[in-house]
Amino acid sequence: MYFVDVILPIPVEKAFTYSISEAEYSFIKPGMRLAVPFGKNKIYTSLAIRVHQEEPRIYEAKEIEQILDETPVINPEQLNYWKWMATYYMATLGEVMRAALPGAFLLESETIIKRLVQTIPEDIELEDEEALAILQAFEGRTVLRISEVMQLLDRKKVLPIINTLIDKGLVALDQEIYEAYRPKLVKYVRLADSYKAEDKMHEALDELDRAPKQRELLLTYFSLQARSKKPLKAKELQAQAQASSAQLKALVDKGIFELFELRQDRISYKGSDDTQVKNLNDAQSAALATINASFEQHEVCLLHGVTASGKTEVYVNLIKSYLDEGKQVLYLLPEIALTTQLVSRLQEYFVNKLSVYHSKYTVHERVEVWNNVLNKQDKAQLILGARSALFLPFSNLGLVVVDEEHENSYKQYDPAPRYQARDAAIVLAYQQGAKVLLGSATPSLETYYNASVGKYALVELKQRYGNILMPENTIIDIQDRHRKKKMNGHFSEDLILAIREALQEGEQVILFQNRRGYSPVLECKTCGHAPQCPNCDVSLTYHKHRGQLRCHYCGYHIAMLEKCMACGSIELDTKGFGTEQVEGELRQLFPDHNIGRMDSDTTRGKFGFEKIITAFEQGEIDILVGTQMLTKGLDFRNVTLVGILNADNMLNIPDFRAHERSFQLIQQVSGRAGRTQKRGKVLIQSYNPHHQILQQVSVNDYEAMYHEQLEERHIYKYPPFCRLIKITLKHRDFQKIEEASVWMGQALKNVFQEQILGPEPPPISRIRNEYHRNILVKIPRKQSLEKTKKAILKVRTTFSSIAQFRSVKIVLNVDNY
Ligand code: ADP
Ligand code: ZN
Ligand code: ZN
Repeated sequence: MYFVDVILPIPVEKAFTYSISEAEYSFIKPGMRLAVPFGKNKIYTSLAIRVHQEEPRIYEAKEIEQILDETPVINPEQLNYWKWMATYYMATLGEVMRAALPGAFLLESETIIKRLVQTIPEDIELEDEEALAILQAFEGRTVLRISEVMQLLDRKKVLPIINTLIDKGLVALDQEIYEAYRPKLVKYVRLADSYKAEDKMHEALDELDRAPKQRELLLTYFSLQARSKKPLKAKELQAQAQASSAQLKALVDKGIFELFELRQDRISYKGSDDTQVKNLNDAQSAALATINASFEQHEVCLLHGVTASGKTEVYVNLIKSYLDEGKQVLYLLPEIALTTQLVSRLQEYFVNKLSVYHSKYTVHERVEVWNNVLNKQDKAQLILGARSALFLPFSNLGLVVVDEEHENSYKQYDPAPRYQARDAAIVLAYQQGAKVLLGSATPSLETYYNASVGKYALVELKQRYGNILMPENTIIDIQDRHRKKKMNGHFSEDLILAIREALQEGEQVILFQNRRGYSPVLECKTCGHAPQCPNCDVSLTYHKHRGQLRCHYCGYHIAMLEKCMACGSIELDTKGFGTEQVEGELRQLFPDHNIGRMDSDTTRGKFGFEKIITAFEQGEIDILVGTQMLTKGLDFRNVTLVGILNADNMLNIPDFRAHERSFQLIQQVSGRAGRTQKRGKVLIQSYNPHHQILQQVSVNDYEAMYHEQLEERHIYKYPPFCRLIKITLKHRDFQKIEEASVWMGQALKNVFQEQILGPEPPPISRIRNEYHRNILVKIPRKQSLEKTKKAILKVRTTFSSIAQFRSVKIVLNVDNY
């Protein structure tokens, strides 16, 4: 009798045992995928972890369906890593496996596949009759469940055939979003067809007699086109004619010019050779040397460098030395979609060695990167990816760079495993004998603490590259401006003036407001009623452009009300404001300028984000308004002014990190100003101009912020002085959630006494019709984390054995911040 233990991609605690033949026993290696039956009728893709001869005692082992791989798809190292992650973050191995493997590796009977072609292309040869049969089975339908395919063909062994079809691009998994690497869209100008004839051309010039600047633009166009017939970039024309985008737009509006877009593929236009890395300046060279030296003693080094100090160039040099040694390098980014600028910068240096790994890429691309890493291919020596890239099958990792290490998107919230990718990267590096470089202009408190107590090495870059000055920060007291009637909508006169000056100089402006939509609350002036989401415990946000009230938690929306739902009054008032309102006010204030908005409402579509960034880069947008998306390391050359509309709502969020986060956000967004010669300006509007965080930000005093916040963490017992595990209970029934959370709270207090906070309803205590209650476990540094977790799991087991609580969902979140 031969057996194999497998991990199933479902949240069960234990591995399952299946029976196999002797031949299978000698063929199967840990890390290979096996299709196995589970439950009544389901087929899952599982992962073999051990073959043995011990018959399971409590159940009869079923036979496996099929072996799906000829060689393992993960290394033994990954399995170890998964085990660590499951234990540390209190998740199951199945959950980790689901997070780790690309979707295409995990076909199961419930997977939905989609047909991508109507007819089978002639140049594709399908060896298998059954592949043809599957394609025919679609018969006018576009999607099929794999279980349906099994029925149609009357056999269960269909996964490999479907895999072949996916590989050939004939079918796809339904949940896949098909967006390959986003090409950069660049705007070009040409003469409209109707103006191409000579007489029309003269007519146009005559017409423009009274618009000399526009006339000059047109003439410049002619002279440039006389020299070369290449498509002409709008930006280039503007620069040559020293014209503004408004002047160009006027010519487009008159029908003389047309704009068109061309894709500029960022990878292909560069030659096959890597660009030479830049020579570092003295400060950068010294930093690089110190980093290298620190790796003699430390596994982790923090590079704390102010915005635009040239951290990226330091990373590039360091990466190069590891690649030259033949090591693999992982470069982690908080969000790939928001960092196309950085991706293309690195691509310039490492064309032939770099692969990008991203959950939004196609199955095919992801599997390809996976296999290239597994097989240590040259082109996958440097991997750029968001947190899921941690799971790639590295075996020769030398260095991990965690860029913008303070970013909260490194934390995975849902589903489990709820891991912190920066912390998990350190463990990965440790297991692989690699080094870690954390980089940020505003390190997280925890990281800076680790550096200051000597756990991590610390290297600093205090000057911007090229000795460009840090921007000049000014705090504007908007209470005072209101009193003096020096406010226009949400803009102080100071800010309006500064914007006007920047625009006059042909410079660009970034404005930050940490809320999207028009206004977060609509309130009746007569009775005070504010429309709420029926599914969640929040008021609906007004989106003016769409004429809707929307819930930002569940997507519920209704048409904007004409009168109050409670009393019928037509006097409705908006409270608070979001980016949409700021944009609207700007259009009134600066009607002759182009205004763009960047938030999750405007960047949703295909290329949405890319288009806005490119338009801004190309000078088509003069003022860009946005949410925290703006803070993500963007490098614009022509921005000299950054305005923060309201710093207070960030500061007032009920979270122990609210102050730290506000400092980071403001510092990062102001770091977008003045990255070239001219010194940048930052205006911060606030009702609390004396708030210590704003004071610290305004003089770029990270250290002062750090010491003060650390002191508070010490007094109130928060990380880094203790660890946190958050337990969230969820249920649709209010009475049940009350009872369940009180029971759980008491049971935990019996073990941990005053280390337990709660149960407490979170600020948004009902989401999608489920009530939430939080319990926080504070674990002192000297207390064993392992024992604590064991005790928590024990309480959970008892809890789940109580009949009336069985339907209550429990979410465990280790290091929940
Ligand atoms: P950070 O990542 O610290 O914000 P960047 O790496 O984006 O800073 O550098 C800011 C700007 O300075 C970039 O445009 C970059 O190209 C330029 N720069 C930095 N270091 C060098 C160097 N050694 N040589 C030439 N340009 C540099
Ligand atoms: Zn009312
Ligand atoms: Zn809702």
